[in-house]
Amino acid sequence: TTDRGTDDKTIVRDYFNSTGFERWRRIYGTTAEVNKVQRDIRVGHQQTIDTVLAWLQADGVTTGQTICDVGCGVGSLSIPLAKSGARVFASDISEKMVGEAQARAQQELSNNSSVTFSVQDMDAIAGSYHTVICLDVLIHYPLADAVQTISRLAASSEERLILSFAPKTPLLTLLKKIGEFFPGPSKTTRAYQHTERDIVAALQAEGFAIRRQAMTSTRFYFSRVLEAVRERNA
Ligand code: SAM
Repeated sequence: TTDRGTDDKTIVRDYFNSTGFERWRRIYGTTAEVNKVQRDIRVGHQQTIDTVLAWLQADGVTTGQTICDVGCGVGSLSIPLAKSGARVFASDISEKMVGEAQARAQQELSNNSSVTFSVQDMDAIAGSYHTVICLDVLIHYPLADAVQTISRLAASSEERLILSFAPKTPLLTLLKKIGEFFPGPSKTTRAYQHTERDIVAALQAEGFAIRRQAMTSTRFYFSRVLEAVRERNA
């Protein structure tokens, strides 16, 4: 059907335009107004961002290289990427997150012309980019939707696709049952974990092979990051 994931999507968008916006704006910030769990997630998320930045910088982010940051949130990755000289096209389904990202870019970048922000559903991403990146977004969607999204993002990636997801492992499944794990999306949205095998299979089906991988684990934040490249470049 064409309206796949509508429910999850509507819930997620509404959440990131309301209570989720307030929560994540603080977590993805530097102010002291966070509790212990939120501070732990802040640290973990920053590690994921730093991992991806280090990968890109190791390969040399050439001026003008196009990067599409899908579900960009408040610009945690897009802004430093723009600073390193990439040409960044950042989008998010939540207009509040995009508004915050724009405000931060204005503050942090002396010349913010290298980053463009827009309000857009990731499943409507069009065009083609050297690298497409989607961090900590697939946690909001069940596998069937995540697989479709990966297919869409792959179609727009000329060379490389970097994504992260909450890994489904027996230990994390148990922890999630016990307590408030993956508290990120809060009780108002579901947190979907995915197995590495499912995500890798989806990437391979699009002709991509895994080149780099990393895992960020703190007490309350778990994110598996994969860099996949078109087979001919693997
Ligand atoms: N990628 C950012 C980062 O790592 O800093 C933000 C991660 S945040 C947990 C998830 C983001 O995904 C939110 O900003 C949310 O609005 C966005 N999002 C959720 N569903 C989306 C969709 N279908 N299309 C675009 N963005 C989406």
